[in-house]
Amino acid sequence: MKRKRASSRRMKRKRRILFRVMTVIALMMALIPCGIAAWLYTHPVRLISTVIKHELTEPFDPWENVEKLYFADRSSVKIDSAADVDKIGDYPVSYTCHGRRYEATVQVRDTTPPTLKVRSCSTDLAEELKPEQFVEETSDATEVTVQFKDGAPPSRDGTFDVPILATDSSGNQTVRNASLTRIKDEIPPALHGVEDVELLQGRPMDFKKGISVEDDMDPNPQFSVSDDHVDFTVPGTYSVVYKTKDRSGNVGEFMRKVKIRKDKDYERKIVYLTFDDGPSDNTEKILDVLKHYNVKATFFVTGNNQKKNDVLKRICKESSAVGLHTYTHDYAQVYASEDTYFTDLQKISDMVKKTTGKESHIIRFPGGSSNTVSAKYSPGLMTLLTEKVVEKGYQYFDWNCDSTDAGGNNVPAETIVKNATSCDARHINILMHDTDAKDTTVEALPAIIEYYRSRGYAFEPLTVDSAPIHHTVNN
Ligand SMILES: [Zn+2]
Repeated sequence: MKRKRASSRRMKRKRRILFRVMTVIALMMALIPCGIAAWLYTHPVRLISTVIKHELTEPFDPWENVEKLYFADRSSVKIDSAADVDKIGDYPVSYTCHGRRYEATVQVRDTTPPTLKVRSCSTDLAEELKPEQFVEETSDATEVTVQFKDGAPPSRDGTFDVPILATDSSGNQTVRNASLTRIKDEIPPALHGVEDVELLQGRPMDFKKGISVEDDMDPNPQFSVSDDHVDFTVPGTYSVVYKTKDRSGNVGEFMRKVKIRKDKDYERKIVYLTFDDGPSDNTEKILDVLKHYNVKATFFVTGNNQKKNDVLKRICKESSAVGLHTYTHDYAQVYASEDTYFTDLQKISDMVKKTTGKESHIIRFPGGSSNTVSAKYSPGLMTLLTEKVVEKGYQYFDWNCDSTDAGGNNVPAETIVKNATSCDARHINILMHDTDAKDTTVEALPAIIEYYRSRGYAFEPLTVDSAPIHHTVNN
């Protein structure tokens, strides 16, 4: 009985112990996940790496470095990134969530070699080749330099592989083989524009003008001309010799015949009296003086005073010349462009033809061909116009003697005479003006005519064949 009771007590104690153990285990089983969960809640972000290797210019997404989020979603993570993907460098990026901050470094690097597309070249033995000539296209996030991988290609004839090496700023490299064919060039350059030419005595010409040289291999062949022996003042037939040369040393020779025709007026002493800007109230008075002395002159007219246009008929009838000075004489309009100049010239040409029945081919540019005002409206225009007008069959005339009557209204007649008689040349072109206000020009005219007449000069109207006085073009 006693033994039975003792055994029952032991059993109870065992059960109690077991219960306690089980309770502790159960408590622990319950607490560990709670602990883990609590720890994870305070460490919510797991990054793939604290060093992010990133390719230059590629778009950067900081989320790609996040492996897992615990007890958090993307909206609870604040990301700060200073990464500039267009610039090589190390940049910080941080992820903050549930009060904990994780830091990583973005290493922006260029590890991609440049793309390179090459092309083949065909040339002579002389050309010094540059690697760029073999490059069709290359591209990279950074600047690319190209070079010959094995040094300069051979300069003998044949076909060769030429390895081209492209290197970007980070040292990444690409090599491609281009093909080079070299052929011995044995053909001299051809010359165009060397047709025989006929000139009037005393009209110099630039023998380099209008010449073009062309070679089958050399893109920049040279030519020279020997024309020192041509005397433009002495009639006769001259041979001008041109030589062409390419970089391979091939030399071509071309002959051009230049015939200088005698100009019956060339040796004579001639004054060309010229009056710009008319017609005006003074045109008749000028014509009366000319008639009195039986001399001829030239009137470069505009379209600005057409009520006086009848006097143009008298100019023609009395064998003086009507020239074209432009229709508007408005610099801004006339010198705006080649087109506006020629549109205006056509208008004054039509006006003169309609009034006088004669077409005029003689021109005076407003301000002369040396004017610099035109540069304000169209740089280089005078260089172009002086060539184009001659190509179109006109001749333009400047002056080598300025009466200075444009210096103001009523410049004293003595001043005009003094300046208009100060020129010493075989052919003298005197600039004067024909406007309502230029009364002193009319007054000065007799003394000017008498001065030159006493020195054996003839007074003639300009024609398209008259020896042109040309200023130096300044625009
Ligand atoms: Zn004028």
